[in-house]
Amino acid sequence: MTTALVPNYARADIAFERGEGAYLFDGSGRRYLDFASGVAVTSLGHAHPQLVAALKSAADRPWHVSNLVRIPEQERLAERLGAASFADRAFFCNSGAEAVEAALKAARRYHHLAGAPERYRVVTMQGAFHGRTLATIAAGGNPKHLDGFAPAVDGFDQVAFGNLNELRNAITPRTAAILIEPVQGEGGCRAASVEYLQGLRAAADDYGLLLIFDEVQCGFGRTGKLFAHEWAGVAPDLLAAAKGIAGGFPCGALLATEKAAAALTPGSHGSTFGGNPLAMAVANATLDVLLADGFLAGVERVAAHLRDGLARLQAQYPRLIEDVRGKGLLVGIKLSAAAAVGDFVTAARQAGLLTVPAGDNVVRLLPPLILTVAQADEGIAILERVCRAWPRV
Ligand SMILES: *Cc1c(COP(=O)(O)O)cnc(C)c1O
Repeated sequence: MTTALVPNYARADIAFERGEGAYLFDGSGRRYLDFASGVAVTSLGHAHPQLVAALKSAADRPWHVSNLVRIPEQERLAERLGAASFADRAFFCNSGAEAVEAALKAARRYHHLAGAPERYRVVTMQGAFHGRTLATIAAGGNPKHLDGFAPAVDGFDQVAFGNLNELRNAITPRTAAILIEPVQGEGGCRAASVEYLQGLRAAADDYGLLLIFDEVQCGFGRTGKLFAHEWAGVAPDLLAAAKGIAGGFPCGALLATEKAAAALTPGSHGSTFGGNPLAMAVANATLDVLLADGFLAGVERVAAHLRDGLARLQAQYPRLIEDVRGKGLLVGIKLSAAAAVGDFVTAARQAGLLTVPAGDNVVRLLPPLILTVAQADEGIAILERVCRAWPRV
């Protein structure tokens, strides 16, 4: 494979020509069951009729007008997200990293405006992933992502995911916020416990910190709730979203309480493309589907079914599968040393199932939220074939 592209991706030698619901088709017409969803993005599957209609209709109206004027679809989406979540306000951008950056900037500026500019540091979690900008690689702290990009942006203190004592010990008079993915995606599909998230809220309240949830991957229905933190019954002050927000159209959002949003006064932050009419039309259509009666309950049901199948697979192949983890349809299969995740993902693709590698030797399953029970069974059957064919297990 030689291309004129920058060589930053290790791409698989495959291209898809057509998509339909939970399936993708390559140039030869071969069908793949899509448990990758473009890394948790095409959450309503491919070519969802409501999303296609929304985009086509938006294509006949002005594509872009800038944020110097009102964008009614943007105001409507902000209003609806507010009604469906903890948030009072929304800011729209184009990607997850931008949404996290906006949250980090809001946290710094919140304390700055409160007369405490020395409070700029953010406590983050080991195994985190927050994006690939300079600030978000510093927040994520993954040495592979930081390699060669020194000096790292200052202001991040990392603690073990799930350890409240360590978290409280890391808080100093210079701490501004706590940043966490309620379910880690890239790092290996680890879900924070209810008690841990509640403990983070309590620590933030005790010390006057802002609590920031990065729900770029676990938000927008992925766990069977609109936002993953709803499982714990705790609300953040700021939330970063993107990936599934518009079913594959680039879009990101910062959701905020009134108090936290007030830090971003006129002129303090912005984005040229953020919240443009095309993205807003598709995001509103996506939200129509997610909030329709019974949709999220259906996600929960099919996720439980998938999880049961994976538990059986683990019982059948204990020397290959060490653990099944995650939440909802953000599922991780932790492989033993008998298999490298990259080899397993390749073998699954060759067998007709698309998955995504994650850290900690975990195979990530991110099926579309429209997955049926029959398609979940089809995925399990393919995984079973891959396991059965694995050498020496
Ligand atoms: C993917 C991801 C990001 C970064 O999103 P981009 O759109 O690639 O910038 C940030 N946080 C989490 C949790 C993610 O999964």
